[in-house]
Amino acid sequence: MAPGRGPRRSNITELVPRRARRPMALNLMLMGPPGAGKGTQARRLARGFRVPHIATGDILREAVEMNSPLGRAAAAIMDAGQLVGDEIVIGIVRDRLQRPDAATGFVLDGFPRTVPQAEALDAMLDRRNPLVVIDIAVEDAEIIRRLSKRRVCAACGTIVGAAEETPPSECPDCGGALVQRRDDQESVVRERLSVYRQRTAPLIDYYRNRPTFRSVDGSLTEDEVAAAVADAAHGGSAVRRTA
Ligand code: ADP
Ligand code: ZN
Repeated sequence: MAPGRGPRRSNITELVPRRARRPMALNLMLMGPPGAGKGTQARRLARGFRVPHIATGDILREAVEMNSPLGRAAAAIMDAGQLVGDEIVIGIVRDRLQRPDAATGFVLDGFPRTVPQAEALDAMLDRRNPLVVIDIAVEDAEIIRRLSKRRVCAACGTIVGAAEETPPSECPDCGGALVQRRDDQESVVRERLSVYRQRTAPLIDYYRNRPTFRSVDGSLTEDEVAAAVADAAHGGSAVRRTA
């Protein structure tokens, strides 16, 4: 990079070769336990690849916020750390993938979370490029430690605090108020983890034998995980290009 261009921004575009910055059909799915960093990494990837970040948890939380019929159906389930019904989330994702901005690819975050959801997604993607699946692996003790400190910006959705001793009170991106998610209380975190092990972890076996499956170590720093995830995304798309 030419000198004098100022500090480099540490985001995914730095890790993505220039030719890949134009829209390409990268169909990416991030999986991993709550607190693995899916949301943070998915935002960086979506920005880098210029594709929409589709997070079913965010869509559901917005619906709860707006007190829509969907939100009213989902609120108690989410507060208990349980999963919203397959038909509901499958419908949400099906609608979202049909919007024009998803035609050149997407980063899915938090979906699929059950085998029936994964089967429905495969059916939806029938005529698209293969799905690149990246599993972000983190141990339970680390997850509980992280989520107890996690804060989310109420204004822009930026996630902070997992790495700091004491989470800041203002969003570093927009100055908005940082809040704790209701389901980040320890008892709910334990329930989410157990739901993850029982219902979502089996997806690793569902995807494991595909050439587009990758697993990365999610216990590293955010930037290190970002590099590994970008690498995995390219690995997956290289498989696609030669296939
Ligand atoms: P995390 O990955 O940190 O647990 P998310 O924001 O992805 O959090 O999800 C929050 C909650 O939203 C989940 O605990 C669940 O209740 C609901 N939810 C999100 N995605 C799905 C899904 N694909 N299937 C069922 N429930 C979902
Ligand atoms: Zn913010």
